[in-house]
Amino acid sequence: MQSKSDKYFIGIDVGGTKVYGGLVTPSGMIAAQHKEPTPPRAGARDVLRVIGLLIKELLKAGGAVRGNILGIGVAIPGIVDNTGKVVITPNINLSGTDLKRILEKKYKVRIVVGNDVNLGVLGEQWLGAGRKAQNIIGLFPGTGVGGGVIVKGEFLTGHQGAAAELGHICIDPAGPLCTCGNTGCLEAVAGRWAIERDIRAAVKNGEKTIITDLVGEKLAQIKSGTLAKAILAKDPVVTRIMTRAADALAEACVTLNHVFNTEMFILGGGVVEACGDFFLPRIERALKKDPFFRKLQAPVVVAAKLGDDAVMLGAVAAVRQGTDLSAAASAYYPKLRHMPSGKVFVNATPIERPLYVRADGKLKDPEEFVPPHITHDLVEELTKKGPDTLFIAIGKDKRLAFSAKAEHYLKKKHIHIHILPTGEAVKAYNACEERKAIFIYPALVAAKT
Ligand SMILES: [Zn+2]
Repeated sequence: MQSKSDKYFIGIDVGGTKVYGGLVTPSGMIAAQHKEPTPPRAGARDVLRVIGLLIKELLKAGGAVRGNILGIGVAIPGIVDNTGKVVITPNINLSGTDLKRILEKKYKVRIVVGNDVNLGVLGEQWLGAGRKAQNIIGLFPGTGVGGGVIVKGEFLTGHQGAAAELGHICIDPAGPLCTCGNTGCLEAVAGRWAIERDIRAAVKNGEKTIITDLVGEKLAQIKSGTLAKAILAKDPVVTRIMTRAADALAEACVTLNHVFNTEMFILGGGVVEACGDFFLPRIERALKKDPFFRKLQAPVVVAAKLGDDAVMLGAVAAVRQGTDLSAAASAYYPKLRHMPSGKVFVNATPIERPLYVRADGKLKDPEEFVPPHITHDLVEELTKKGPDTLFIAIGKDKRLAFSAKAEHYLKKKHIHIHILPTGEAVKAYNACEERKAIFIYPALVAAKT
């Protein structure tokens, strides 16, 4: 399916142990992905070499060349200033590297460099749990607690690029010391390293927990999955410590909501992936119970959806913003033509039965369509692969009837719908630069039935 005229973005997630890259179409389909280990004690040179290697591999896997790249987004686990220069990376030695400028010089395309967690939230907004939401707060309790804030569609970077370090907001001035040097940070209570610390202390105190049966007496590393098992087994020590972590997160969410009056909290990271059922309802309850904002609608609390792809896709989302996609869209989606006769051509093929072009550009037959009924099942099929906009070309027949369930579904998924006469629908579809789908229901078919 791919040709040399296809356009792609490249997203790169530079992590402490691995560098993960994806070759991604402008509509967000991952065409190829590749991982390389991060060299131990990696410096700027090593990271640049690995990025170069990844790009080469991705292009090869996708049957593409350098000229196919529209832009490159790079996510860094640290603070990146507003010019794309890395200020500080705790685990990799990239501090002070003007990564954006170096990559621009080498690849001569648009480059965006940003903080990994911020970009992860942006990824979730583009293709994951936060689609269409304009105000989002992301909290990712893993080893530490990462955070990102999107206000009116843009992620908050702050004066020097260091905004939204939500793991280090103080929730207890008398609390434990944090790795950052401050006292009582959210991550010093709710990060996995903090949870591990508290479990070790409890065991040292002689408390009994099944964690020692699960990972041994040494308690060197307690994985999120192990914590989930202990909660399920109603282990009193783990339940107590995790309740404290959840309460700390809930308290932080209430405070953050007072600052941002957000629409949505997205919770992700290893701990939430393993124990989401434990955390999410507690946070939701705290937000609903907030006496100060009781007259306002409480923000929704959802689990992140994209897992390990969130940061890579967010890097793509960041570089995609501000890129002229008209050329890319026309290379990716088929060109539709509406003839004076009323016939529609997809590329060179005339359409003579109901057909649709899915959001990934694929031409499909609807499984079941009994005109004029647009059922919930049909809408679900037409909107597979998540379009932002669905066009329905209705030919001469204007009797199309949406079921209430179908309408509700489109609303829930925030999919814009345009029902237009065929000529107008085709024109609007061709001009649309978003992720799009079109259902074409030719006049011919309507006349026969
Ligand atoms: Zn801290």
